[in-house]
Amino acid sequence: MVLADLGSRLTDAISNLSKTNVVDQEFVESILKEVCNALLASDVNVQLVVGLRKNIRAKINLAEIPQHSRKRAVHKAIFDELVALVDCKSEPFQPKKGKSNVIMMVGLQGSGKTTTCTKLAVWYQRRGFKTGLVCADTFRAGAFDQLKQNASKAQIPYYGSYTETDPVVVAKEGVQRLKKAGFDIIIVDTSGRHQQERELFTEMQQISAAVKPHQTIMILDASIGQAAESQSTAFKESSDFGAIIITKMDGHAKGGGAISAVAATNTPIAFIGTGEHNYDLEKFAPKSFIQKLLGMGDMEGLFDQIQTFNIDQKETMKHIQKGIFTLRDLRDNMTNIMKMGPLSKVAGMIPGMGQLANQLGSDGDTDYRMKRVLYIFDSMTEAELDSDGKILASEPSRIMRIAKGSGTSVKDVYDLLEQQKIMANMAKKMGGKNGMLNRMQQAK
Ligand code: GDP
Repeated sequence: MVLADLGSRLTDAISNLSKTNVVDQEFVESILKEVCNALLASDVNVQLVVGLRKNIRAKINLAEIPQHSRKRAVHKAIFDELVALVDCKSEPFQPKKGKSNVIMMVGLQGSGKTTTCTKLAVWYQRRGFKTGLVCADTFRAGAFDQLKQNASKAQIPYYGSYTETDPVVVAKEGVQRLKKAGFDIIIVDTSGRHQQERELFTEMQQISAAVKPHQTIMILDASIGQAAESQSTAFKESSDFGAIIITKMDGHAKGGGAISAVAATNTPIAFIGTGEHNYDLEKFAPKSFIQKLLGMGDMEGLFDQIQTFNIDQKETMKHIQKGIFTLRDLRDNMTNIMKMGPLSKVAGMIPGMGQLANQLGSDGDTDYRMKRVLYIFDSMTEAELDSDGKILASEPSRIMRIAKGSGTSVKDVYDLLEQQKIMANMAKKMGGKNGMLNRMQQAK
């Protein structure tokens, strides 16, 4: 979970509002103190915290707010100022399908640049962009192999060279080839060898002149905390059109400091890295970020995901209205959830489910379990998929065949049928002539 400590400290402070009957100046000050301490512990710059406290105080003039509206007013003022604290006030570049969009990635070694290149490629590929990678890091031994391995695993086409030592030549050649092949998104990974920002930016400018990127993205490691401000400012000055991705937000307490520091320089934060897996990349939006941090969910983000992945539940809804729920409905629903990303991330977008997201265990485990279930569906016949599952439960030979075909166990198949039974019973209660849905419609 991203910034779990900061999130729970802020949530604790704000939840004091619901416990009190009287909201007076002393009470407001005590909440403000806790909010500010939580931000300082996450390495947010003192000046930014002082500014936040001043703005919240200015918004809450208790003399003008009746007692019954005070809780809401305090909550809103704190929420709005937290959003403003991480708001970069500028939008990153939006690539368009049907033309070649070149994205160049830069960053110091170890910042997570190569990992993020593949994550970003996966992010765009899942949204229907034809995406390819170019490895222009000719300095670090093994850099091309690392990118190749990541890209192959994610089934992303790539270009690189074992013999050419000039990164500018490789970058140019790679971009030209992928452009010719009609790629929508071409992501260029550059060398991160320099510990000196100036040298890093010089190489960035040389490659940039050769491949003319539509966007240059700088990768920053969350652990640098508020030092992100100077890096972000230097980057903004040397790149015409840049955005930032802050990585390792899952593991570092200083992440709040890094985000607010970059936001203060008005450099767009395009994404945040939230883990080591390919799906651990989240589009950054200030309001959604604070909502999730405070356990309030992110329904806008969820609807956006549903639209992005063309999630279509029409057939299942028609079935439920009739009081039916087939194994195929269950499979389609599970596939849809998997399309949207790891389960813990989807759960975190639903208000009140943040806690569940934390309990789901590592995304790798959950994804693996979901995939096994999909293998079970793959071993069923069309007729079995269109059934409610009873036919399987009554014929052990079918269960054995499916377990064998899917490489799972008989228990796994029975567990799945148990789940199916619960869903089918629920559909029966909701649908049909006497079902809940019908009665609700009649009552309208
Ligand atoms: P590069 O030298 O900048 O290309 O860095 P790498 O891409 O090789 O990443 C360095 C290390 O950081 C690797 O172990 C990655 O798995 C890890 N890493 C990258 N991004 C994240 C992230 O968002 N979260 C976590 N926990 N680890 C990350």
